[in-house]
Amino acid sequence: MSFQAAPDSPCLYLASGNAHKVSEISALTVRDGLHLRIFSAKALGGMPPVQEDTGTFEGNARKKAHALRALAPLGSWVLADDSGVCVEHLGGGPGVESAYFAGAQGDTAANLRKLTEVMRGVPVERRRAYFYCLLMLVADDGTEQVFEGRCEGVLLDEPRGGAGFGYDPLFVPAGYVQSYAELGDEVKNVISHRALAWRAFRTWWQAQGPAQK
Ligand code: IMP
Repeated sequence: MSFQAAPDSPCLYLASGNAHKVSEISALTVRDGLHLRIFSAKALGGMPPVQEDTGTFEGNARKKAHALRALAPLGSWVLADDSGVCVEHLGGGPGVESAYFAGAQGDTAANLRKLTEVMRGVPVERRRAYFYCLLMLVADDGTEQVFEGRCEGVLLDEPRGGAGFGYDPLFVPAGYVQSYAELGDEVKNVISHRALAWRAFRTWWQAQGPAQK
């Protein structure tokens, strides 16, 4: 991947401390050759701590976006991701609480273990789940845009595969037999909840983004 955005492209800062999300979104930017220069929160000294306590994906994404925007240079744009896995058998949980399913420390391995345990013995017809991603874009003038993506699928009995992060080894997207973690980034970046939200963002950016003003 050799795309190099022009030095006069708008700067977009990613309001996330999650290296996996940053890597997926950076790969999508490069793949699509968007007219923007992307930076992680590290470029601003790191993602400031944010209490994800609003109870909604949109509210949490807004908090993250504005927390980083306060540190970003004037004229830059900010994109925040709030996402999670919503399981039918758990009434849509862990959903917005996905990062803290096994406790307040946000331990990804413990979260995966807990979801595996909680779903043990649940029959296949009650293992339906979807991943959801909300991207909140805050423009240079402070206006907000929301983009969403959802990927339907089922949960496995046991985690499978070594790619990706979080709950990836447990989730098989509809139409596939392999988990997100077995399919790997190239496929995930086409079909995933984040890739779909990204596609909505890309469409907006290309039609109404700063280059169009
Ligand atoms: P948050 O958006 O920071 O609240 O965290 C979302 C949590 O949902 C992450 O810690 C992961 O556990 C999970 N999650 C979100 N997106 C993905 C994904 O693409 N794969 C696996 N797990 C994910």
